[in-house]
Amino acid sequence: MKKKPILTIALAAGLAVSSLGAQVYAKPVDLQQVQPFNVFDNKVVNNINVDNIYNNIEYLSRTPRVAGTVEEQNAIKYVKEQFESYGYETKLQEFQFYGYTAPTTVELSVDGYEGNLEPKSFTYGMDGDVTGELVFIGLGTKAEVEGLDLTGKIALVERGAISFADKVLNAAAQGAEGVIIFNNADGVINGTLGGPNDAYVPVVSITRDAGQAILADLNNGETLTATVNIEGAEGGIRTSHNVIATKASTNKNKGTNDIVAIGAHHDSVPGAPGANDDASGTSMTLELARILKDLPTDKELRFMTFGAEELGLIGSRYYASQLSEEEKKRFVGYFNLDMVGSRDAGDLVINTVDGNDNVVSSHAQASSARLNGEPTPIQPGRSSDHVSFYEVGIPSASFIHRALEPWYHTPEDTIDKISKEKLQDVAEIVGTAVYDLVRPENHGPEAVKGKEQKVPHLYHEQDIQ
Ligand SMILES: [Zn+2]
Repeated sequence: MKKKPILTIALAAGLAVSSLGAQVYAKPVDLQQVQPFNVFDNKVVNNINVDNIYNNIEYLSRTPRVAGTVEEQNAIKYVKEQFESYGYETKLQEFQFYGYTAPTTVELSVDGYEGNLEPKSFTYGMDGDVTGELVFIGLGTKAEVEGLDLTGKIALVERGAISFADKVLNAAAQGAEGVIIFNNADGVINGTLGGPNDAYVPVVSITRDAGQAILADLNNGETLTATVNIEGAEGGIRTSHNVIATKASTNKNKGTNDIVAIGAHHDSVPGAPGANDDASGTSMTLELARILKDLPTDKELRFMTFGAEELGLIGSRYYASQLSEEEKKRFVGYFNLDMVGSRDAGDLVINTVDGNDNVVSSHAQASSARLNGEPTPIQPGRSSDHVSFYEVGIPSASFIHRALEPWYHTPEDTIDKISKEKLQDVAEIVGTAVYDLVRPENHGPEAVKGKEQKVPHLYHEQDIQ
């Protein structure tokens, strides 16, 4: 992707008079007016040891770190120990969530149908081995199933109009033993039932072509028997933790009560070692913590790594939900690092939830302009833990290289794809932006508070209907 030239950037507080207040962030300035490099940047840049970041990624990415597993717990313990080795007071914040493990066996057979049906399971679908006569129930709406007796039957349903979960529940309410949902477009369904429910019956999806072929036989008056067999799915309450390291202001007299936070997620998706996603952000958070520990700072710093991000920002949402109103007001901003080191991804961008500038993005744009002569572009993006902060009114942004690497969420997301140059670049931009906000010489303006706003779960996209 070609970068758009950006002619103006928001002025960093470090170059402004702090008494101007929040509006200073919205004031555009010529790039030429931005100092090429500041002495305070050197305090961060000269101390970054990219090998520390790289080595921690290497250690963390030896196995997948799926939320709620022993491997995630080992990563949590490791991250905590690193923070403590730098001298941080470090806490684990425990939280529970409903975890789901996909089945190992997903089988479907339909009498008289010879082709490979290649059935797919749905997230939150449960085990079962059921056989029955196949009955087509259209889209499976309440109106369509009303009065039908599906006792002992398998319902064949077309995708569309209502959620997958509602189709399953409507069919089950009429006595169906199992459900087959066929697509209404090309391709396979990557579907979720949205959450657990004891009333579900075993359900699989098939392609439109397979569904239409079976439907044609039914319409010819044939009686077909179908068997749905699902094994190995597992759901239940699981435990994960966020890791939180805190550094109080070192400026006892003039320090403010403000908080600046940096974080990443330590969990990965199943099967993926998650070197870039997101051992890179976790390890960069650790290195920035190590550097900022020894620098004078007049705001509270929090370094955090979150669990269960891949399941829908669960850890960070829990963290945000536990903040008191008073604490939320103290937050100046949150810098999120998610996928910051892939050699095979595109250029760095700053994701804000609404695509607008805020105190986090403006400081990073200013620091990238100082360091590299060009501000890192802002793009709207809501696929990581910065969303949880935005939702409670805390300015936040996430740092990521786009376009994504081909190894994203695959077993190939490994240490050999990590670029030390990219790690160095992001660590410099984010480290100096944060330091600009927290250095004692710079009493920046208060945070620009966003409005509380609910946004849907959009991470790890799956179809719900
Ligand atoms: Zn991630």
